Amino acid sequence: MYSDRIDEFFSDQLCEWELAKLNYSQLNKVKTREFSFGTFEIFVQFNPGRIRSSAAKVDPKSIGERPCFLCRRNRPKEQRDLNLENKLSILVNPYPIFSRHLTIPSDIHTDQRIRSNFDIMLSLAEIMHSYTVFYNGPQCGASAPDHFHFQAGNRGFMPIEKDFTNGMNASLLIADHGIEIWKWIAYLRGIISLKGNDRKKLVEVFGSVFDKFAEFQPENPEPMLNILVEFSSDEWIVHIIPRKKHRPSQFYREDSTQLLISPAAVDLGGAIITPREEDFLMITKGDIEDIFTQVCFDEEEIAEILKGIL
Ligand SMILES: [Zn+2]
Repeated sequence: MYSDRIDEFFSDQLCEWELAKLNYSQLNKVKTREFSFGTFEIFVQFNPGRIRSSAAKVDPKSIGERPCFLCRRNRPKEQRDLNLENKLSILVNPYPIFSRHLTIPSDIHTDQRIRSNFDIMLSLAEIMHSYTVFYNGPQCGASAPDHFHFQAGNRGFMPIEKDFTNGMNASLLIADHGIEIWKWIAYLRGIISLKGNDRKKLVEVFGSVFDKFAEFQPENPEPMLNILVEFSSDEWIVHIIPRKKHRPSQFYREDSTQLLISPAAVDLGGAIITPREEDFLMITKGDIEDIFTQVCFDEEEIAEILKGIL
């Protein structure tokens, strides 16, 4: 099984690669704060190793001037890869959020795009069923928008997984021949979730959501999306999180009220990462509400996207 091969590969890398070993061992000491929103919780993780990602410059000029860290020739010599089908490779992420955190880049240097690659994401989740596979769009979280990649983290870490299962904030809109479409209520961020075992149908519905949403953001190379996929009990669960903005206003403040938070799939999955301790200590429940509201769509706007699809 792939999951076993990945676990073995992961353990081998931690033995061979000092930096990865050190960073994963430090993860045990990471500090967290929990915030309750009544029917769900969000936690904040203080993780200094993530500064590279949170503060990454992703404008075309900065991207063009740096060596791409996902291209094989630029990777650290200790970082081995596990080849998959579909011209992807699994790498151990040396700056982890999860106790098992993988980066899954394409073998070739090509733009971050999901429309024609969503099917691959489903395949990955299926073979890596102890992981949640996630995608950050080129303009909303990917720190290598020029090199197509997914990431994956061990399941059971992000609150959204259990929030979906316990059903307090997710509401079923439609169930039709092997696919369910869900929306979220009073969850601070608008999300469309799909569940089912019919791959073809999931790809089709995802395509419809994507195309509809693209009409809202015609100026972008693709509509801004974060996506999480897990495979459990022979079904896929897909959370599509449409985005309005890459970073909230707090990120750009130049005084002591700045919060260096750059939300992507994991943060919106309920695990907010703060690379700086001052932000970890300062952030309030109100800040979280405000940040999520700025960067995500609300329920009415999600309903608008879903119009015509249902
Ligand atoms: Zn590259």
